[in-house]
Amino acid sequence: MTIPLSAPDITEAEIEAVTAVLRTPHLSLGPELATFEAALASYHAVPNAVAVSSGTAGLHLALLTLGIGEGDEVIIPSFAFIAVANAVLQVRATPVFAEIDPLTLNLDPAAVERAISPRTRALLVVHTFGVPADMGALRAIAQQHGLVILEDACEAIGAEFGHAHHARRVGSFGDLSVLGFYPNKQLTTGEGGAVLACDPAHAARLRSLRNQGRTGTGWLDHAEPGYNYRISEIACALGLVQLSRIDEILALRRAAAQSYNGLLATIPALELPPLTLPGRVISWFVYVVRLPKNVDRDRIRAVLATGGIATGTYFAPIHLQPAWRAHPSARSLSLPITESIARRTLALPFFNRITADQQRQVAAALQEAIRSCE
Ligand SMILES: *Cc1c(COP(=O)(O)O)cnc(C)c1O
Repeated sequence: MTIPLSAPDITEAEIEAVTAVLRTPHLSLGPELATFEAALASYHAVPNAVAVSSGTAGLHLALLTLGIGEGDEVIIPSFAFIAVANAVLQVRATPVFAEIDPLTLNLDPAAVERAISPRTRALLVVHTFGVPADMGALRAIAQQHGLVILEDACEAIGAEFGHAHHARRVGSFGDLSVLGFYPNKQLTTGEGGAVLACDPAHAARLRSLRNQGRTGTGWLDHAEPGYNYRISEIACALGLVQLSRIDEILALRRAAAQSYNGLLATIPALELPPLTLPGRVISWFVYVVRLPKNVDRDRIRAVLATGGIATGTYFAPIHLQPAWRAHPSARSLSLPITESIARRTLALPFFNRITADQQRQVAAALQEAIRSCE
């Protein structure tokens, strides 16, 4: 593809930082990890961050650390990345898919309330596409029903929820929160993730579980069966430079979203993402439009691909995936809002360094593709 869907933004500073680590003997569990974790905690104004090998690993460890397991129900969106459901399955708990709000594409608090049963233990709140979920309403529900909140902020680093001086970064609301650093995310370490924790006991358990259940006393002292979910020093060095540039990164992405909204405003019946929402600061992860109801998305994608323009279809509902549709949580489940929105979404090329020219080319090609498919 001439214009990719996403592209990491690696500068000389990242290359130098990674190279510097390679000149040391510390390639794992060293000073870069400690510094990266401290920087992540400070950025989110939480006491602890535990960096891990991926966002998915972070979700797994967070669920274990919250004591969620067999017989427990966890409410999750189906309009999400599949790791959200898989992680719940991994701890033998039961995902309960709930409907989303059509504007923010996040869990609809009213639908969450309807999904609560005596076995519900947790809300797994995803800040989809970098738009903060309604943490006010969701926290009130959790409090009322004695539930824990696990935030999945993998798509939303730097997003904020709350008005004026009550605004806080997402990731600071949950009992635990997960970040992800895959190359298409706003901040990348190649592969990586982190769990944010307020409770120091949670942080200690997360550190132990990511490192084979080690206690910290000796390399062969294991308190419980754990995992190797460690992240390398190389990845942490990369992440540190990316985090130091996060304001610039988020500003570039916001500007790209703004300019797409301007370029695409004239296409009839094309629904654009809201640029602002009251009480929220969006961290732009992807740029996703909703196609007019009467056009064939596959044909649009094929036409754009012919012109060298990559597109995505975030998200295919989890409950309809071959991996999930026979599961008792998904079988005979109908989520009309999720399903109707998911059929129409189209993710356009979106990355820090997308040029005005590329955006114009995408907009013109999309306009022409829609016209020709109608
Ligand atoms: C990216 C992402 C993750 C984590 O993905 P990894 O590839 O495992 O780092 C988790 N949840 C959501 C919603 C994501 O978008």
